[in-house]
Amino acid sequence: MLRWVATALSLALAGHAAVAECPADALGTSRVLEVDATTPRVGLKHFASTLPLAAKEVVLTFDDGPSPGTTTRVLDALARECVKATFFLLGQNAAAHPELARRELAEGHTVAHHTFAHPPLDRLPADAAQAEIDRGMAAVDTVLYGSTAAAPRTPFFRFPGFASTPELLARLEARGIVVFGADFWASDWNQMTSAEELRLTLARLTESGRGIVLFHDTKARTAAMLPGFLRALKAGGYRIVHVVPARPHSTGL
Ligand SMILES: [Zn+2]
Repeated sequence: MLRWVATALSLALAGHAAVAECPADALGTSRVLEVDATTPRVGLKHFASTLPLAAKEVVLTFDDGPSPGTTTRVLDALARECVKATFFLLGQNAAAHPELARRELAEGHTVAHHTFAHPPLDRLPADAAQAEIDRGMAAVDTVLYGSTAAAPRTPFFRFPGFASTPELLARLEARGIVVFGADFWASDWNQMTSAEELRLTLARLTESGRGIVLFHDTKARTAAMLPGFLRALKAGGYRIVHVVPARPHSTGL
């Protein structure tokens, strides 16, 4: 318990420091949305339902990191605008760059899971796929918290390449782990300039009007366009929603 209190205190202090440095016109985080297994799969690109977002509400998500250089720039851009995002980490990258994973957590972002090494899980036997998922979660939690358990600290998972299977989805749901898809994305895995990515992503946001957006913090073009994207959200009246795991003891904070 003491350890948890110390962690909560350090997070609160980190959050306070970030707020203190916020420019007056920063985008800011509009609200915190607790997510639990009552919504086991979210994201309209691949699933039938998504998060209960109001019009003009956006959830920022970043996959595949952390990666030196680009993740640092993404974190800097988020800090400048005082917005919180969710990072879906590869265990191997968290282990290789623990300071970046810890910075994400210390700055108040949600740090979640994306396997250890990004294999296409739908091409593996279910037990091997689950072992890969668990290895990633264990690597991230070891870096962030110094320990690991059967259940990840943050029970959010995104499939590499959205390559899920009914069997794996059922196993994750049985463990209370929420599977994140996306409502729209930047297509930042394709070759394009950061200006093109900015235009494309804003056009898709205008079309959907809200939603979970998927970026990759490993992509230089995304790191380059993010400050402009966040400025455009502010100018367009969009609001950032920070998703966090629902926990019984969080209601008192
Ligand atoms: Zn990925």
